[in-house]
Amino acid sequence: MSITPLMPVYPRCGVRPVKGEHCHLISEDGTRYLDFASGIAVNLLGHSHAGLIGAIQKQAETLMHVSNLYGSPQGEALAQKLVDATFADTVFFTNSGAEAVEAAIKTARAYHQSEGGDSNRFELITFNNAFHGRTMATISASSQEKMHKGFSPLLPGFKYVEFNDLEGAKAAIGPHTAGFLVEPIQGEGGIRVGTPEFIEGLRQLADEHDLMLVFDEVQTGVARTGTLYAYEQYGIEPDIMATAKGIGGGFPLGACLATEKAARGMTFGTHGSTYGGNPLAMAAGSAVMDAVANEDFLAQVREKGERLRSRLEQFIGNYPELFEGVRGMGLMLGLKMKGEPRPFMVHLRDNHQLLTVAAGDGTLRLLPPLVIGDVEMDEFFEKLSAGTADYEES
Ligand SMILES: *Cc1c(COP(=O)(O)O)cnc(C)c1O
Repeated sequence: MSITPLMPVYPRCGVRPVKGEHCHLISEDGTRYLDFASGIAVNLLGHSHAGLIGAIQKQAETLMHVSNLYGSPQGEALAQKLVDATFADTVFFTNSGAEAVEAAIKTARAYHQSEGGDSNRFELITFNNAFHGRTMATISASSQEKMHKGFSPLLPGFKYVEFNDLEGAKAAIGPHTAGFLVEPIQGEGGIRVGTPEFIEGLRQLADEHDLMLVFDEVQTGVARTGTLYAYEQYGIEPDIMATAKGIGGGFPLGACLATEKAARGMTFGTHGSTYGGNPLAMAAGSAVMDAVANEDFLAQVREKGERLRSRLEQFIGNYPELFEGVRGMGLMLGLKMKGEPRPFMVHLRDNHQLLTVAAGDGTLRLLPPLVIGDVEMDEFFEKLSAGTADYEES
């Protein structure tokens, strides 16, 4: 037998973390890495946040899991925090981002297919190079063929349009259109920021045609961009939104948020999840919200994001043959490279113990924990400088 016990769907690298300390990971062999990946925008409080650990420990000792057949004081508490802090009136908890997007897709379809709606409307317009997860519905929602190969038939009901192409989105609206599903900033796709005209235009089109504007804020959400959710920076609100990644701070948790109107089809018995919103997950989510959903924390993310960005812009000016520019918002930044980002990511990782994430569109993603301090920022630039200097030579 040659297949590995872990199903070989990931090309795993040689870094084998066994411990996390604030913004660092320590590998099995004792090597320390500076973590500018954060488990892909998950560990926003770093790796050893006392508040998050304490909340999980305390809840684990008290009550870990009960069925959604029972009342949930823990779920009500976190849902209330999210409702208070966002556009939403109601929340469905999931265990992952893909499930949160699934719930969002179902909510958008059910809006039209419930009483008073138009049952012929089921199609979501999505955008090229989007990433929405790896379930059948969420790969079908993405135009990326590499995710489809071997898994046909796809789920019907998605139409792909170029990202940031408002005219294209408008032209794609037809009698079956239920709404738009969009990442305000494409993460996996290469930190491509939605233009204000595009995002505001989608809101306007949705209003004109009674469509659901569904935001996938799985990566952009939970303070990552310097506001609790990225939609706030566009001065508009979605009807439905998926959130996950950072919201559990490392504990598997996601949620689908919606307005009362958008959730009109999500009635008793229409959706469910065994684990979704269990007390342990709710304790983690509440601890994260308590830490990040305040102006003080958000202002710090914006300030650090601006500092990281301006230092990066200054830095890449010295290497015009290697880097093209810096993109993103807050602490969700991308370094657009002239060549492929992957070999540079590997070089920084293996030779300078700096962890970053390669993304689409020739971009290297920088996703530090939101709690980074000056010391870690300086360490990042030391590693980046040294790594760029000897990458140039090689
Ligand atoms: C990561 C991601 C997902 C999928 O989340 P999982 O927890 O891996 O299922 C969906 N949408 C976006 C924008 C993401 O970045």
